[in-house]
Amino acid sequence: MTIFEKIIEREIPAYIVYEDDDVISFLDISQATKGHTLVVPKKAYKNIYEMPQDLLAKVIVVTQKVSKAVDLAFQPEGLNILNNTNEIAGQTVFHFHIHIIPRYTKNDVGFKFENHMNDLSSDEFKQRAAIIKKNLL
Ligand code: AMP
Repeated sequence: MTIFEKIIEREIPAYIVYEDDDVISFLDISQATKGHTLVVPKKAYKNIYEMPQDLLAKVIVVTQKVSKAVDLAFQPEGLNILNNTNEIAGQTVFHFHIHIIPRYTKNDVGFKFENHMNDLSSDEFKQRAAIIKKNLL
C-alpha cells in the first residue's frame, strides 16, 4: 500500500483540499513553496505509462481546478505543474501524482534545463522526431 493510499483510506492524516470518487488533492507535506499541492488518482498506478486514459483526463481536469484555487488563494506569479516519473526523475512515491508548485520568485524552486538547440543538426532533430513518431501506440 502506498502512503497516498493510506491518506485516501484515512489511515494517516493529510490536508485535503479536494476529493471526488476518483481523484483526491492534498497539500504536499514538504511545501516546496507556499501552497504546494498534489493531485492523485484514488486508484494506485505506478506511473503515467500505466494510467488509464479516462482517469488521467480526470486528474488533469482536477489539476486545473486546484491550480485556479491555489492561484486565487495565494496569488503566486505562476506555477509549475509537474510529474516525476521513476526514481531517476525524482519520484519517491510510486503512486502516480501531479505536483502543483506555486512560484513566487525565479529561484524558489531549482529545476534547470539547458538549451542544446545549437548542438543539433536539423537531420538529428528529424531523426529524433521520427523515432518518437514511430513508437506512438
Ligand atoms: P515524488 O517525489 O514526485 O514522488 O513526490 C512525492 C511527494 O509526496 C513529495 O513531494 C513528498 O513531500 C510528498 N509526501 C510524502 N508523504 C506525504 C504525506 N504523508 N502527506 C503529504 N505529502 C507527502
